[in-house]
Amino acid sequence: MPVMRLGYVHVRVTDLDAAINHYSNTLGMKIMHQEGGTVYLKSWDEHDHHSVIIEEGGVGLVKLGYKVTSSDDLAVFEKRIQQFGATSERMSAGENLKTGDGLRVVLPSDHVIELYTDMEYVGTETGTLNPDPWPRDQRGAAVHRLDHALVAAEDPALVERFFYDCLDFRPAERLITDPAQPELIGTWMFCGQTPHDIAVIKGPNGKLHHFAYWLEDWNEVLKAGDVFAMDDVSVDVGPTRHGITRGKTIYFFDPSGNRNEVFTGGYQTGPDFATITWTADQTGKGIFYIGRTLNEAFTTVFT
Ligand code: CA
Ligand code: FE
Repeated sequence: MPVMRLGYVHVRVTDLDAAINHYSNTLGMKIMHQEGGTVYLKSWDEHDHHSVIIEEGGVGLVKLGYKVTSSDDLAVFEKRIQQFGATSERMSAGENLKTGDGLRVVLPSDHVIELYTDMEYVGTETGTLNPDPWPRDQRGAAVHRLDHALVAAEDPALVERFFYDCLDFRPAERLITDPAQPELIGTWMFCGQTPHDIAVIKGPNGKLHHFAYWLEDWNEVLKAGDVFAMDDVSVDVGPTRHGITRGKTIYFFDPSGNRNEVFTGGYQTGPDFATITWTADQTGKGIFYIGRTLNEAFTTVFT
């Protein structure tokens, strides 16, 4: 079976109180657990115990967690990862709060990802019996769920090959230098049926570009923008549309400078999806379809 989804993002923050306010009040996530300088949060439409972990001390990505279906899958992935030559180690249940055993992998780009099969089931805020479409007590942007992450790599093609060969991800879209001399600048890869579950663009190894939350539609993206104005959130770009993935978006920063995104739209993918190619001369349109230019922060700010 394919990898299920991006299950969690663990990031560092410089100011824990400011981060709690951002992720809880502005974005609307629920605080599930706090232990010392680490806080575990969940969005209202997620089933598992938490999806975002913020840890006080510094800035940037600690690791990404991808949920897999079974221990058998885990064993298959482990074997392929060894054959690929990436570093991995088994992790045991409880090493991560409320999380079962799994595999910790260091990508060729130095990012750490964890593959796991179980996390304590909590249920969504609206439940599974005659549910309302949304919870009445939602706060701020009321993000529905985690959607994807974009990381930087000195060699995006190598990381693409890792996800393709080892974990059966497929590229929905690829950004290349030019068709005659195709060098990969970026790749947007899926394991589920949305345009992307991980994306990789050329940049410094080990760094995070952003992680994104799902919203229902363009109106919710606009409303999130209003909330960001009310709360003086630093907005990077948007609301606008991406050419790549066709998503509707706002990029913004948490108080520590980690980039977040609210995202909706896009198309359906699947095993027979035909990969879309963008050439470097169309990068502006690919990233921000309407404005057609990259702002400087997009290519320079990583955490
Ligand atoms: Ca996705
Ligand atoms: Fe994104």
